[in-house]
Amino acid sequence: MKYFYLETFGCQMNVVDSEQISALMRGIGYEPVTAPELADLVLLNTCSVRDKAERKVYGHLGRFKPIKDKRPELIIGVGGCVAQQEGQRMLDTVSYLDLVFGTHNIHRLPEMVQQVEQTRQRASETDFLDRETRLNLFPERSVSESVTRFVTIMQGCDNFCSYCIVPHVRGREISRSSAEILGEIETLVAAGVREVTLLGQNVNSYGCKTDHEMSFPHLLREVDSIAGLKRLRFATSHPKDITTELIDCFGQLNSLCPQIHLPVQSGSDRILGLMNRGYDVADYLDKVRRLKAVCPQIRLTTDIIVGFPGETEEDFQETLTLVEQVRYADAFTFLYSPRVETAAASMTDHASARQKQQRFDRLLKLQQQISGEIWQADANRVMPVLVEGTSKQGDGQLFGRTVWNRIVNFNGPQELVGRIVPVTIVKVLRNSHLGDYQENL
Ligand code: SAM
Ligand code: SF4
Repeated sequence: MKYFYLETFGCQMNVVDSEQISALMRGIGYEPVTAPELADLVLLNTCSVRDKAERKVYGHLGRFKPIKDKRPELIIGVGGCVAQQEGQRMLDTVSYLDLVFGTHNIHRLPEMVQQVEQTRQRASETDFLDRETRLNLFPERSVSESVTRFVTIMQGCDNFCSYCIVPHVRGREISRSSAEILGEIETLVAAGVREVTLLGQNVNSYGCKTDHEMSFPHLLREVDSIAGLKRLRFATSHPKDITTELIDCFGQLNSLCPQIHLPVQSGSDRILGLMNRGYDVADYLDKVRRLKAVCPQIRLTTDIIVGFPGETEEDFQETLTLVEQVRYADAFTFLYSPRVETAAASMTDHASARQKQQRFDRLLKLQQQISGEIWQADANRVMPVLVEGTSKQGDGQLFGRTVWNRIVNFNGPQELVGRIVPVTIVKVLRNSHLGDYQENL
């Protein structure tokens, strides 16, 4: 028996890619292990959205060197966005690395691993594939016992937001066929999955560039009609592509959770223009207002970049104002990180690192206050919780999620896994709730 150890960085797309990597490695006789010391093959699936994420990969690789020094037959490989960007350069820089595989080359991994096993020749494959070839390479993963699953509906991105590396490392946007997506979800539901999250860099443009393919709202309706599926979510939505038809889905589809991640990035029209986002603050707020009108209980989350080149105190104040107006349940806040090849990397910037950090801290403080108020409103309420499994908190607790994707830990019998049960929220913590399940509620 041979063993592989796989570590995943970054977004949900990488989580799905890692599931595919695992399935492929099992196909050539490797079983997963939870420590690199036990493995014959170590793989890192990487993220390059921010400089920090990228540096982390090099730092991490260093951890495996002593293991390779002791066991030179250990194979070490890097895939994902950093691998795509760096390619052969990674092999040149890291002497103990054996394999580099790009974002379009995951399907080649079994052959690459076998080649290294047999010849001990190091290998790098980072070619972008054409559209037709990629369409046949959407993840094939094994059906697992989980209650919730991510399902990729599209790959790549054509938006070229001026700060973002994704279009450069993931290639052009393509949509997977709706027949395949619906088939996969039916199989998952038959195996016990109760919630799916449809994934893409911009799910709202699903099908737009493919002849005879359905639109995203149409796809949502089809998924919603699959018997046995209890909850449906999606990520990520680009605000410029939200249609009235999509907004209406929130008032009509039973399984669609009242929650949307709608990255705004900035509250300043000037900065949004420089970011090439394709909407202004008024457009964004109008869509938020319509979502709240159709679905009053909806909770929004967002991404915000602080310190984009040229951001002034006034621009930043406009971001704070927008955050106060929308009242996001949560926000992922990022300090701008220049990325090679992107348009923003060559824009002039006057704010100091200290000013940017201070803005970041102010935004975080405001958001934490708003998040605290929104989540605190759940206290003492009975909420339907989809039970996913045993909690990481230990103590034999179970965990599940509310419709708003909030984790709830509570005591209860194992048979509840896979069911939606009423749980009283007894304590609101920073990132999760503590609940009380009573059978007769
Ligand atoms: N496709 C998604 C969208 O448009 O909302 C987001 C994908 S990106 C992986 C996730 C988030 O990372 C973005 O929404 C943005 O806030 C942040 N991000 C991307 N590039 C960044 C950069 N160069 N510096 C800081 N944050 C960045
Ligand atoms: Fe990046 Fe913009 Fe595409 Fe999202 S939509 S992946 S932020 S380029």
